[in-house]
Amino acid sequence: MDGLLPRPRAIPAKRLLALGIGLVLCFSALCASILWEMAQKDYQHAKEGATNLVASIASEIDRNIELYDLSLLAVADGEKLPEINSISPELRQVVLFDRAATAKDLGSILVLNTAGDVTLDSRTLAPRKANFADHDFFRIHQARKDAGLFISPPWVTSEGEYLISLSRRISNNDGSFAGVVAGSMRLSYFHNLFRKLNFGESDSMALFNTDGVMLMRAPFDISRIGQSIREAQVFKQFPARRSGSYMTKSIVDQIRRLYVFQQVGHHPLLIAEGLALDGIYADWWQQLWLIGAVVAALGGCSIVLMFYLLAAVRRRAAAETQLARLAGTDGLTGLANRRRLDEIMAIEWRRGLRAQSPLALLMIDVDHFKAFNDTYGHQAGDAVLATVGQCIAASTKRASDLGARYGGEEFSVLLPDLNRSGAMEVAERIRERLTAFRQSQHELPTVSIGLACFTPTAERTSHDLVSAADLALYEAKHAGRDRVVISPVGRDGPRERRAA
Ligand code: GH3
Ligand code: MG
Ligand code: MG
Repeated sequence: MDGLLPRPRAIPAKRLLALGIGLVLCFSALCASILWEMAQKDYQHAKEGATNLVASIASEIDRNIELYDLSLLAVADGEKLPEINSISPELRQVVLFDRAATAKDLGSILVLNTAGDVTLDSRTLAPRKANFADHDFFRIHQARKDAGLFISPPWVTSEGEYLISLSRRISNNDGSFAGVVAGSMRLSYFHNLFRKLNFGESDSMALFNTDGVMLMRAPFDISRIGQSIREAQVFKQFPARRSGSYMTKSIVDQIRRLYVFQQVGHHPLLIAEGLALDGIYADWWQQLWLIGAVVAALGGCSIVLMFYLLAAVRRRAAAETQLARLAGTDGLTGLANRRRLDEIMAIEWRRGLRAQSPLALLMIDVDHFKAFNDTYGHQAGDAVLATVGQCIAASTKRASDLGARYGGEEFSVLLPDLNRSGAMEVAERIRERLTAFRQSQHELPTVSIGLACFTPTAERTSHDLVSAADLALYEAKHAGRDRVVISPVGRDGPRERRAA
């Protein structure tokens, strides 16, 4: 019976909520991508720093080995001179051994004959009696002409000093084996070099040979010297690549690090710096917590605000719906008012025109109401109008039927898609209900009803329907009141449907 209320625009609450959550998610995604970029930058920055440091240490070690190698080459070449054995031992020392070889951290240079016996010592004119024939470096030079500079694994002297040996073959002019020249380098040289570096607490720097034997490591731990790290991931890249980087958990102390490695010149030595990932991302984690907390707080506030707004919008929509309903309702009877009747009548007229379905209208007027008012007063009159409204509301069943207060003590009932006999039934039902009320309230006035029904045509308007019903009402009054009169208008009109 509510008919077609002018509905306020529906609030797409779910869409609004999805939009809000989408915006929060977009904002979060943006922050996440910025944080991701920051992490990448920190990583790149750390990698570049480590690459530069490793390169400069490698070049420092390479330069020193190169210098020492030049000293060994000078001895190997000098030994070939025919005059070398004819000059005095003092002069020979000066000719063969330059001062560079006496630098700190470098051991004495020894010349060995083909049998491995020490024949010359850079530090003394009377070399000690020793034989190195069974040492790896001697056997390698004895067997191979092209061994070049051989760097041995670390070994410990009887005085407890850690050394690596550097050696070269002495060849005769015909290329045959003439002995070996060997020197040593104290590992303390690398220890002192690494000690000068500024590391993070969990960072590391390591020097090892290409067989995977550790020569020096910072932080220093004597037990690590000589340890094999052949399983380290660096050997998956070397020798295919002479330098590179990778991220892994250390096989020495299980700390996850970014490792940057480089070969020392063309020597069989590798240097690798390991930067603990915790250290690389330390600042980044702080920023992550800060930005994360701000984003979470903003996101949370936005969602709360959104729900609050949504609730406000819903309250407002409900209020608008209520207002719209009240704007179309008659306060005394609860039926639709004249304004709404006009709106709905215009809509139903167009619908009837399109569908070529009949439209019926009842015009109802309370009989002798002025007299009733005069006798019983206006309040009693209002009660009668409310009772008539009740009878009309109870007699219309379809959702599209519309009972309305036309004005004063006049009522209308719009009955879309209903023929004359159907409309007549509704009119009689209203009168019957009122008659039933009269059983208890004898003074209750009767009503007269004018009924018009026809199918809308382009030549007519809804006003013609109202006029026809009005005229029929006028006739009902004249015919003695308390009755229904049907308007003859449209009786021969187009198809009218049967009563539902
Ligand atoms: P008829 O049978 O010819 O319709 O006679 P009537 O007295 O009903 O007709 P008339 O048009 O002369 O009088 C209508 C009266 O209805 C006049 C007015 O006092 C009364 N009336 C109109 N609106 C209201 C209302 O809201 N409340 C009350 N109590 N009376 C109303
Ligand atoms: Mg009247
Ligand atoms: Mg009247």
